[in-house]
Amino acid sequence: MATSESCSMFLGRGSLFSGFGGRAGSKHGVSSFAVVDTARRARFVLNLSCKMRQKNISSKSRRQPAKKGRRNPSSLRDETRNAEGSTKVQNSPDDHSSSAHSENSYSPIIPASDAINVDSEGFEQSSSLGREMVIQQAPNEEQLQGFAIGDLTGMIRNAEKNILLLNKARISALENLDKILVEKDDLQAEIRRLETELANTGLQPEFPADKKDIVHNTETEISARKSSLEIDSYQRSLDSDFPSLGEEIGLLREENRSLKEEIEKLKIKLKDGTPTDVEIRLATNVGFSGMGSVIFDSNVGNKGSERKDIEEQMGNTLDTAAKQANNATIILQKNEELQKKFQKLESTLMEENDFRTSLESARRENELLQQKVENLEERLRISDQEIDDQVELYHASVKEFEDALDILKEEGRKRATQVVPDNMPLKFWSQLLLTIEGWFLEKKITIDDAKLLRDMARKKDGKIRDAYIACKEKNDQEAVTILRSLITPLKSPGLHIVHIAAEMAPVAKVGGLGDVVTGLSKALQKKGHLVEIILPKYDCMNHDVISDMKELDVTVNSYFDGQQFENKIWIGIVEGLPVYFIEPCHPWKFFWRGKYYGEHDDFKRFSFFSRAALELLLQSGKKPDIIHCHDWQTSFVPPLYWDIYSSLGLNSARICFTCHNFEYQGASPASELGSCGLDVHQLLRPDRMQDNSSHDRINPVKGAIVYSNIVTTVSPTYAQEVRTAEGGRGLHETLNFHSKKFFGILNGIDTDAWNPATDVFLDHQYSADDLHGKADNKAALRQLLNLSSENSTQPLVCCITRLVPQKGVHLIRHAIYRTLELGGQFILLGSSPVPHIQREFEEISNHFRDHLHARLILTFDDALSHAIFAASDMFVIPSIFEPCGLTQMIAMRYGSVPIARRTGGLNDSVFDVDDKAIPDDMKNGFTFLVPDEKGLSGAMERSFNLYLENPEVWRELVQKNMRTDFSWDASSSQYEELYEKAVMRAQSNS
Ligand code: ADP
Repeated sequence: MATSESCSMFLGRGSLFSGFGGRAGSKHGVSSFAVVDTARRARFVLNLSCKMRQKNISSKSRRQPAKKGRRNPSSLRDETRNAEGSTKVQNSPDDHSSSAHSENSYSPIIPASDAINVDSEGFEQSSSLGREMVIQQAPNEEQLQGFAIGDLTGMIRNAEKNILLLNKARISALENLDKILVEKDDLQAEIRRLETELANTGLQPEFPADKKDIVHNTETEISARKSSLEIDSYQRSLDSDFPSLGEEIGLLREENRSLKEEIEKLKIKLKDGTPTDVEIRLATNVGFSGMGSVIFDSNVGNKGSERKDIEEQMGNTLDTAAKQANNATIILQKNEELQKKFQKLESTLMEENDFRTSLESARRENELLQQKVENLEERLRISDQEIDDQVELYHASVKEFEDALDILKEEGRKRATQVVPDNMPLKFWSQLLLTIEGWFLEKKITIDDAKLLRDMARKKDGKIRDAYIACKEKNDQEAVTILRSLITPLKSPGLHIVHIAAEMAPVAKVGGLGDVVTGLSKALQKKGHLVEIILPKYDCMNHDVISDMKELDVTVNSYFDGQQFENKIWIGIVEGLPVYFIEPCHPWKFFWRGKYYGEHDDFKRFSFFSRAALELLLQSGKKPDIIHCHDWQTSFVPPLYWDIYSSLGLNSARICFTCHNFEYQGASPASELGSCGLDVHQLLRPDRMQDNSSHDRINPVKGAIVYSNIVTTVSPTYAQEVRTAEGGRGLHETLNFHSKKFFGILNGIDTDAWNPATDVFLDHQYSADDLHGKADNKAALRQLLNLSSENSTQPLVCCITRLVPQKGVHLIRHAIYRTLELGGQFILLGSSPVPHIQREFEEISNHFRDHLHARLILTFDDALSHAIFAASDMFVIPSIFEPCGLTQMIAMRYGSVPIARRTGGLNDSVFDVDDKAIPDDMKNGFTFLVPDEKGLSGAMERSFNLYLENPEVWRELVQKNMRTDFSWDASSSQYEELYEKAVMRAQSNS
């Protein structure tokens, strides 16, 4: 490794070396030079000098750009002469101010080509070099003639001294060169050692990278640094920092080597041989050049070109040495830079090692921590697993226990039931028999039931054994029900129910009664009961809806006004139900009146029919479980049944009476009652059939309430209302007295008959899922009735009703006008049994005959009613009271939103959209409480508002209403329950 001391020493020598030409002497001297054999030596030196110059030129051209100018030997010479003071300085070659033709001028600048000389051995100076050189010509013989001999002798002596000094200087220069070469070798060795050390350090190429970067880099980077690739990369990086160093060293080595050889040769020459004349001239010339003296060799005075070559060779040698010294300086500087970089690398390496060490320890700590976490996790997992196992074990044992318990229970039950009945202890059968007899004596079961159960016990039937075991912990009533269920199939598959009614839809329908009879009968039939209907054979009834109608070849005689009258019996199927039509053969032709009601003798007509119906049952030998009569027209049945027919053998049935409207009670003078065979005196009593208001009148509805086993009305709210003085129409006390058998059951609708998806009366069937048909029906109806079809979204308000005061006719009228005011259309389908009401509405109808937005059809038209329900958007039911009302339910089924007064059955089926007390899923319409125009208008306006302002919500409301179950399913079950309980009571009482 080069030290700073050696560098400074080297530099110092370089300085000395560069000023060599100006110094008077050197410690290296040459003992003597004999001027002999000058021609031979001159040739040799010239030859050698040219070779050296060629080498120097070639190496110079390789290492550095050629210098435009070079130090002119004549300038050195001039300086030397000035210093000696012995010779007047002649014109400098570059001094253009002096005349080139001056007397003392001997060194004109001549073209290089003119200066080319060829010696005897054919040596030729490079013309290119010659062009750059300033050739100093020696003085010719003519010039020399001016000098004195003494002067010449002195000059020679001086020259000899100079030669001696020059030789010393040359030897010194050569020795210095040797030292330089040695130091260069040392430096090269140092460089190699550094390279080796660098290679051995394993440092990474990236340094000296910023430590922050190293910190940011992870272990991956550290390990990656170890790779040989990165070492290579570093090496490349190093090479890129010193791209010419190796090359430079190699060149220097090469030069040094050749220089050495040359120097060695020179040394040998200098030592071994006496300097030739040429050598002396060379030395003189060099000496002159170096000290500014002008030396002339008398022997070689005529060989000026040869002397110039020697001088040039010497100058070149010195230049080469100077350049080498410069190169060595550059190398030294590079070495210094390299050393600095190496030191920096070393410190970075140390930092990195420290960092790596700390990183390693951190990593080890991290690994330890991770190991601990993993251990903890593993322990946690194991403990979780243990808990899971324990829980699973627990569940398994619980399940095992439960299974075992179930098995034990099942085995116990099997053991009890698998015991062959005969093997049951006698004590068991005795207990069962005693239980049955006890129930019979306590009248909890009928004699027939007791007989059937007794037979089963006597036969040791397995079913009664199991049922009796199951009854062990039940009370008597539950046990009776269970045991009777065993014998019910033996008796009958279901109840035998006979409806006796004045209406049945669609064959004979005036109002809701007809719908209820059909709807309830069909629902009960579906439940497996035997349902039959007995109707008057009206001349005006809809025969088209009766299938297989025929007159039976039998007549039924019935009593009336003290006589027996024949009745023709017709049978037929209506809506799948078996129907008996009674055609009285009475001269008054009770049902040949062209209408259902409204005859002056309605009391007689329907009391006749009631008796004839019971006669039919009696004479046919039927044993119905339930005789269900409806409204005042058939309210004679209950007293007739109990007062006359039960004693005649028609005693199997229990009587159910349904009042569809307490407005109609059929009260008549008491004397009228006798026509059907009832005892007026017995019945004209407050607790029987005497009208509560008119004591001389018979009230058939009151009689039905008193004589029936079950009394119902058509909605829970109405049932409550009629128990009040205001709502009961004089029967509230009677109803309250018989409240235990009085029930309010909301009517359903016949969802088969009222189904927009299958309705044959409609032009377009539709459903909640697809409402397009509804709009089409609306358009069709508008066209049919000549209403404006301009605005398809114009709301259509409809009303289908009997035009009677109960229905709020004044409000219906108001609804027509209010609808028009609100921008809607109105259609009324109705007829009135009340003449003045009929007339009033006929006037209104005429008023709107050609109106584009209102139409009144004052008739009964079942088909048209279907079309209106389908077309309407809103349905008005402003009833003053309403036992049930069906139109609101039919309307909803057809997607028309009801606007109804909150009364009776309307209150049980229409729930206001804006009433916060009502659950959302129940809201279906608009209601008002006070039965006046204001109340109705308010509800209508709210309805219009929703329809017009929020059609999407309206549509959802319509769809929800259409999907609501208004069928008889739920209602018929309530009737069924009432029937069964009544029958059970009857059986237990018999
Ligand atoms: P009520 O029984 O008091 O007459 P409901 O609402 O219980 O009233 O039942 C009326 C039934 O009669 C509904 O089915 C309705 O469609 C029908 N209806 C009423 N008037 C007419 C009419 N003019 N044309 C056709 N059907 C009518």
